[in-house]
Amino acid sequence: MMNDLGVYVHIPFCEKRCHYCDFTALVARDDEIDRYLEALAKELLGFQSLLSERLITTLYVGGGTPSRLSLSQTEKLLQLLEPYTGKLREFTIEANPESVTADKVGLWADYGVDRVSLGLQSSDAGWLKTLGRIHSAERVDEAVGLVRERIDSINLDLIYGLSPGDQTYLRSLDAILSLAPQHVSIYELEVYEHRPLAGMLTELVDSDESFEQFHRLRRKLEAAGFHRYEVSNFSLPGYEAKHNRRYWDRADTLGVGLGAHSLIGRRRFNNTTELPRYLAGDYIEQSESLSSDDILIECLMLGLRQLKGINYRDLLREHPQRSDLIDQYIQRQVALDRLELSGNVLRPTRIGLDLLDTVVLDFLSLL
Ligand code: SF4
Repeated sequence: MMNDLGVYVHIPFCEKRCHYCDFTALVARDDEIDRYLEALAKELLGFQSLLSERLITTLYVGGGTPSRLSLSQTEKLLQLLEPYTGKLREFTIEANPESVTADKVGLWADYGVDRVSLGLQSSDAGWLKTLGRIHSAERVDEAVGLVRERIDSINLDLIYGLSPGDQTYLRSLDAILSLAPQHVSIYELEVYEHRPLAGMLTELVDSDESFEQFHRLRRKLEAAGFHRYEVSNFSLPGYEAKHNRRYWDRADTLGVGLGAHSLIGRRRFNNTTELPRYLAGDYIEQSESLSSDDILIECLMLGLRQLKGINYRDLLREHPQRSDLIDQYIQRQVALDRLELSGNVLRPTRIGLDLLDTVVLDFLSLL
């Protein structure tokens, strides 16, 4: 059987840089975006043999803001990706509400996009302004309506941990639930010293309040029928994000575009985040071959983010040199009620999911 592959395509352009953003995102002119799409085509060409020998099952166009592309740029991108869409099990595009139009949604659907991930973040006008988002809550409703005309499966993102005592995040979740998405991702606000938001907030949320806010959101989502299948991700049954699961399962994924990351076999590599270099065809920034211990650490760090956990027997089979250590570690985490071992499945408990960093650090301390 052909090995499968997920493909990630990064579109780094945004209308305006949000005040908190630390992603590979930039504001660019239309002619720069045109040149970027040409560079992307050349980069894909360089992976022709890999792409033709694998079964491509997921395609994810992320950003930045892929919906920032004009209609003709959107069509150019989708034409570029069309050869890889024949056997897809999921084709996601990220979008921001302000740039979703009926024409773009029509193109996405015509080329097989079957899932749209929309950045709602907050439904509070004041917070949207502070975060530097350029859409309004009303525009979110409109964008969801436009997407639903052609594409059923929708993820909405929400940010919590905005300020101490803030309650707007709960109203934002109500707004999300009223739009009936199948998937919700909730992220804690990260405030970076070098981003403008750091100078705009007078007080930050402490870890206890952040924990409390997260679990209020979790309880509301669970009451609405969503299940937490990964640290920050909730879905209705059957709507878990297939492409994102590949990252947590360490399944092969090729990333193309500015700053994109790839894992192919034992090799991890990532692209430059400098646009001029990328446009000049100098794509790859860093590449490394993972050691057996690197792979083991990644298996725990990524696999245990998911409630479905990882296969204990496979872990021992693939890392025989560390089997004693793995057993010692698991016994300790089970005793602490952070992990549970049921048959061959090693999974985090609810406590373990909340303490995942500590759970992984404990393993590192044994190495
Ligand atoms: S829309 Fe997303 S990627 Fe773009 S600037 Fe805002 S946070 Fe960054």
